[in-house]
Order: sequence, then structure tokens, then C-alpha cells
Amino acid sequence: MSGTITYPPLTPIMSEWVSSLIQRPDMLRALIRTKGSPVNILNPDSFVKNYRKFNLQLTAMSLRHQVFFARKANKDSCFIEAARDLGFGVDTASYRELQQSLDLGCPPHQLVVTAAVKNERLLRLAIRNNVLLILDNPDEVRLADSIARSEKRKVRAGLRLQGFKAGGHTLHTRFGFPVDQAGEFILRNLNASGKYGLAFEGLHFHLDGYSITERSAALKTCIELADSLKENGIATRFIDIGGGILINYLKDHGQWECFKTTLQEAIRGNHPPITYRNNGLGYSMNDHHEITGALATYPFYNTLNGPLYLKNVLEAPFNANITLAEALNHREIELRLEPGRSLLDQAGITVARVAYRKKDTDGTPLVGLEMNMSQLRSSSADFLLDPVMICGTERPSRPIAVNFTGEYCLERDLILQRKILLDHLPDVGDLVVFINTAGYMMHFFESQAHLFDLAANVTLPEIERRLADQFHLQKES
Ligand SMILES: *Cc1c(COP(=O)(O)O)cnc(C)c1O
Repeated sequence: MSGTITYPPLTPIMSEWVSSLIQRPDMLRALIRTKGSPVNILNPDSFVKNYRKFNLQLTAMSLRHQVFFARKANKDSCFIEAARDLGFGVDTASYRELQQSLDLGCPPHQLVVTAAVKNERLLRLAIRNNVLLILDNPDEVRLADSIARSEKRKVRAGLRLQGFKAGGHTLHTRFGFPVDQAGEFILRNLNASGKYGLAFEGLHFHLDGYSITERSAALKTCIELADSLKENGIATRFIDIGGGILINYLKDHGQWECFKTTLQEAIRGNHPPITYRNNGLGYSMNDHHEITGALATYPFYNTLNGPLYLKNVLEAPFNANITLAEALNHREIELRLEPGRSLLDQAGITVARVAYRKKDTDGTPLVGLEMNMSQLRSSSADFLLDPVMICGTERPSRPIAVNFTGEYCLERDLILQRKILLDHLPDVGDLVVFINTAGYMMHFFESQAHLFDLAANVTLPEIERRLADQFHLQKES
């Protein structure tokens, strides 16, 4: 049946290093044999390129700036080493993230702690190393202040803010201090006029979602707060606008639109399902046959992405005469940002081995992978990119739509909800390559249920070294 139904493709953007790796199936198979399945391949070069693009954009706008990589988006230390070598910062959100960054030699002034919960151990580590703390609530401020005094130190502190207004409503968040009370609070609690305690350095926000206008509105409010602090003799050295900078995963806007309309038609019963058991991925149908809800996935296609996204946030008006960027410049306030995902664009892939082919009770073709759902998962309801198949032998074309399933003993262990149209049924031992997975997908929710090992992580430079060694061995023998 599959040949006659349209399964809208979602073709991923693929950088050159990925295309050339895919041309080396023997090498990928050898890698899976030695490291197990799945294996994550990481390329710090892409990360460096992404950073350079942000840096260029901010420099072009003459902004004093500092970029901190939000390291929660990927666990591998290769990106921390790259950040250290390029002299930009790292945003850490746990004791081990901070300790590891310090151990790898990141200079303390290029680190920041934004952890949602900062226990005494984490605070003491940050304070002893003179690392900037972004404080979230009064209890945390009290604990940090008491540790600062017991350590006999003046501690660098910023405040995370909440309660920004955009489009006539208040943006919901569980994080931070109410922005309308922050001025008072800073004057009373972060104004270390004595020898020890918390010394205010700057303001911070990180907004949920990906709205440009919301980020501009929050930045404007922060600049206004900095002005009122200044009237009270307190300088704001930086404003940190967090992360959430969009990236673009897809080659073709038309494909993205076609996917969304076809999904809606499938949910209304006007088109065969294009997801497992007609999963709506956030959409559903009401009694009037209308689609309700919203797509609960990452917005995979974005024209305004990366540096251009940032430019749009910063070029919104501060007042009738100047932009937000100019307002920061006039005040000599440093702009900080904490991109996670957007620094990892094109920086990693995940390769898994096919274990079996079978059907479920509905007759849906399943391709079982030596992999589990936690190894390709983010808060997105599905990862909407076509994987690349690497097959052992040439086979005649017999298109078939399949669902990839995982190793957990859960009905819901599907690697992708979306049905993927393949040229033919893969063989056991064939490989599936998931593209552009370094940002959140490979690590964020990875678990060791069933005592499965975590996936191995290999960097492209390591692979190239190994290939070079093999080459030398072959030449010598
Ligand atoms: C998650 C997070 C980031 C990074 O967000 P991205 O969407 O990956 O850019 C930055 N700052 C804070 C405080 C965060 O929690």
C-alpha cells in the first residue's frame, strides 16, 4: 500500500562532514562493532563555526558581549574544551557541570552558574572559585550570602528575573524574581557595601519558547531596571538574555508546511496516518471535526535562525530613536547570552543498528533498533527529520513506510512517532543515521533503564586519527 500513499518527506540540512561520513559505511559499521549501538558522533568544528557566527554578528553591532555555552544541551566535554580554547564562556547548571568545567581549565570569569537548585555544595564550589552566580529566589540568596560570609568573600551575583510583559500578558515562568520588585531587592540584599556578601553585577532572564518579540520586550524591561538601579548608585555590568535562539533543521519550507497539513488531514481521517497509531503530536480533533491544539514539537523550519534571530531581538526599538543594541551600547552594558541548541547546530549525529523487522497487531511494519527512546529525545513530541539509511547491499526499490522501535519493554518505546518511507525494508545489521542530534536529542533524557549502557560518544577528530592509524598499519604490513 505504501507506494500509493504520500508520506511527506522532511529532508534535513546536512553539513559536509556528515555527508562524507555517510559515504564510509565500513567505517561506521566498524565503529558500531567496537562501541556498540547507538553511537553518537560529535564534531566540535561545527560548534566553533556557530560561535564565530554569533561573535561576528555581535561585533558588527559593536556590542560588548560574552557568549556562554549552555552545556546542559550536550554532555560531552569536547564542546567545553572548544569553548575554553576559543575563550568564550560556559553556563553550568549543576555541581558536576561546574566541577568538570573547572577541571578542564575554563577560567572562572568565563563560567556562570544558573542551576535551578543551588545546594550548599554547589554554592561553595562557585564561591571558592569566584564564579558568577545567577540567583533565583530569596532562600537561595540567604544561603549564598551566609556562605559568602563564612568563606570571607565578596561574591559576584546576578539576578534571574520573571514577570515580563509581552503582547498584553505576563509571560509565565517558575523561575526568577518578580521584575517589579527586583530593584528594591537588589538594593537591600545584593549591595555588598561591606567587605563580605553578595555584590550585584547584572540581570538575567531565560524565556521559555522561541519568541523574538518576547525576548526584545524582556530586554527592554531589563535596560529600564538598570536605569533605575543607576539612579540609586548601582551599576549593571551585564544583561544576560539566556538561550532559545532558533535553529533551522530543514531544507525546504514547503515540506514543513505539507507535513503539518497532511498530519491534520490524517487526524481528521481524510488521509492515512503518517504517525504511529495516528498520533496527533499535539493536534487533536473535536466533535465538529475541527483540529484543536498545537503541534507539540520543536518548530523545525525557521527562516529567522542563529545570528539573524539574535539581530532581530537586538534591533527592536528601545524608544522612538534607538534600538535595544544602541541602548546597551550607550550605557556600556555587556550583552550576555547562553545559547545551547543553537551552538550545537550540525555538531552531532546518532547512528544505530537494525536488530529486526516485524509487524505489530495492526500490521504496521516495525524496524527494531539497538537503541532506546531516551537516546533521541527532547521536550519535542517527535524528532521530525528523515533519517539516512545505510544498507549493506543494493536492493531493488520496494518503498515501505516503517516505524522505528526501541529496546525498552514499553509499548511507547518508539524512536520516531512519524512513519518513515524507506526505499525498501532494511536488513538486520543495516544502519540508521539520525541527523543533527547534538542539541538535546542524544543526551538530555538519556537513561540506563534495563541497565543498558549509555551510548558511546566519539568525536570526528578521534575517528580521523583512528583512520590515519589504520592507514599507517596497512602501509607497514
Ligand atoms: C536551557 C537554558 C539555556 C539554553 O537554552 P537553548 O534553548 O538550548 O538555547 C540557557 N540558559 C538557561 C538558564 C537555560 O535553562
